Amino acid sequence: MKHTLTCVECPMGCEIEVVTENGAAVSVTGNSCPRGKAYAENEVVCPKRVLTTTVRMTDGRMLPVKTNLPVKKAELLALMQTVNGLHPTAPVHIGDVLVKNISDGADLVAADNME
Ligand code: SF4
Repeated sequence: MKHTLTCVECPMGCEIEVVTENGAAVSVTGNSCPRGKAYAENEVVCPKRVLTTTVRMTDGRMLPVKTNLPVKKAELLALMQTVNGLHPTAPVHIGDVLVKNISDGADLVAADNME
């Protein structure tokens, strides 16, 4: 199967073509550097994204949160169920770990300070 995608790893936006067989990438062309090859292979085999959202604190304020590493795109909805159950109490500081290893070694961390 042939996939065409635009690399988002840098502003050049190379158009990359990936051929897959049995769910594995067997050919990557159009990338200008190794980062693009890795991006394209991951994107067609197991796309990942940084989860960014907000959680309601116990005092009602909304705290921005994110994963510190990309997580499997297919898991995002399930992870949101965990995230939606969180209600941290102030003070919270940027980078505080709210859920250790929420998925594949990625932690859910605070993305802002709430005193
Ligand atoms: S392949 Fe390399 S040069 Fe091209 S957009 Fe991706 S990161 Fe940038």
